[in-house]
Amino acid sequence: MKFSSLHIIEPILRALEEEGYTHPTPIQTEAIPLILKGSDLLGCAQTGTGKTAAFAIPILQLLRERKAIDGKRKIRSLIVTPTRELAIQIGESFSAYGRHTGLTNTVIFGGVGQNPQVNALRRGVDILVATPGRLLDLMNQGILHLHDIEILVLDEADRMLDMGFIHDIRKILAAVPKERQSLFFSATMPPEIQRLSSTILRHPAKVSV
Ligand code: AMP
Repeated sequence: MKFSSLHIIEPILRALEEEGYTHPTPIQTEAIPLILKGSDLLGCAQTGTGKTAAFAIPILQLLRERKAIDGKRKIRSLIVTPTRELAIQIGESFSAYGRHTGLTNTVIFGGVGQNPQVNALRRGVDILVATPGRLLDLMNQGILHLHDIEILVLDEADRMLDMGFIHDIRKILAAVPKERQSLFFSATMPPEIQRLSSTILRHPAKVSV
């Protein structure tokens, strides 16, 4: 299996080649076609499986193929993840795979001053990677809104629940459009996570690696 057999567009294929990726990992082979066709996804996968590229590649492709209607940059995809380290890694992945797409991303997380993050948001981004607390904080200050989200990702959902983020996640869910594509990843699927996923996803495809 090659990335080109997954119908990935040339600007992204070129970036993957530059990254030295020759073959998709199992989760990428399964998830990329499902996400590209617009399906919601429930993914049971640990870090280290290539999970980030499994969602970042098709998100970049979908956003690139459906240009924003008024041509303005707005936040069209949101990735919510539990920790600063994961958020930074995910942002770097979007930058790497998206370097020839013209799409931009920024990363926001707590524990540091908000001004550089606010300035980056003001310049306009297509993709936002965020930890829950700082995201809500900036929303409450009116610095960003989530009305234009087309694709939502909850990454490491089990860890977010363990870290006590459930109320924050519910507030974030209330602020994104109902009409959207949602991708939900968790390393484990206990009943609490299954219940949460069923409130977020519509007829999800399931992948497990
Ligand atoms: P992740 O599970 O998303 O944290 O990814 C784990 C590591 O695998 C990261 O360092 C990625 O850069 C790398 N990676 C992801 N997909 C591929 C691939 N298809 N070929 C080679 N390396 C990959």
